[in-house]
Amino acid sequence: LIVFDQVVKRFGDLTVLDHLDFQVDPGERVTLIGPSGSGKTTILRLLMTLEKVTEGHIWVDGEPFSHMSRGSALVPASESYLRAKRKRVGMVFQQFNLFPNMTVRQNITEAPIHVLGTPKDEANERAGELLDLVGLGEKIDAHPTQLSGGQQQRVAIARALAMQPEILLLDEVTSALDPELVAGVLDVLREIAETTDITMLCVTHEMGFARDVSHRVLMFDHGRIAEAGPPDQIFGDPQEERTKSFLRSVL
Ligand code: ATP
Repeated sequence: LIVFDQVVKRFGDLTVLDHLDFQVDPGERVTLIGPSGSGKTTILRLLMTLEKVTEGHIWVDGEPFSHMSRGSALVPASESYLRAKRKRVGMVFQQFNLFPNMTVRQNITEAPIHVLGTPKDEANERAGELLDLVGLGEKIDAHPTQLSGGQQQRVAIARALAMQPEILLLDEVTSALDPELVAGVLDVLREIAETTDITMLCVTHEMGFARDVSHRVLMFDHGRIAEAGPPDQIFGDPQEERTKSFLRSVL
């Protein structure tokens, strides 16, 4: 579904992703781990079209994602091309980024109504279903300030799903939460993983969660993949010294 082909990302002199190659299959759940600054968030931001590649290409579903075709050539993607591509991708951030002046319902229905053109009744009905899924059905008319951080993050997850994305990107979604609120958010994500076939890319420091939900773990170091494999192998029998020392530092 997703192909990174020799992707380079530089910020000035800093090379954050260094000729990166990897693929993600449809329905696959992949966790990105690795030291701070190794480029994990940048990968998600490229897929959210919040950053542009410096070199190389990203493909989604066999179509150019970072670029667009012009005749037989690939040229940098235009804003309108990127906007169309972005609809396929949902992202949940560390900071929940809900609209504070809108109710929970409005937060969830805003993009489906205005970006996808979903009729209001349908968007409202779907918002109710998604809130039930994240365990917040009774909060539909609340404002974000009336919710705990964990509840706000569960609304943010519902908001991302409301766009019916093929790909869900999760960027350290529990890092800003008080410890007692983390489990509720992870349970919701486990439920989504078990009950949908959405493709997930997840950056997390929650190694137990990564072990439970992912099909594959990619260990990053300096913008490259140091080691990749199923969670049992990466956590139980890592081969690379960099993976071993990273896991020692977080577990
Ligand atoms: P963390 O776990 O700390 O979030 P990460 O592996 O997700 O780390 P990235 O956020 O992808 O790492 O950042 C990789 C490097 O790129 C970091 O050194 C960061 O400072 C740098 N970087 C990210 N965004 C920018 C930007 N817009 N301008 C300049 N440098 C940036």
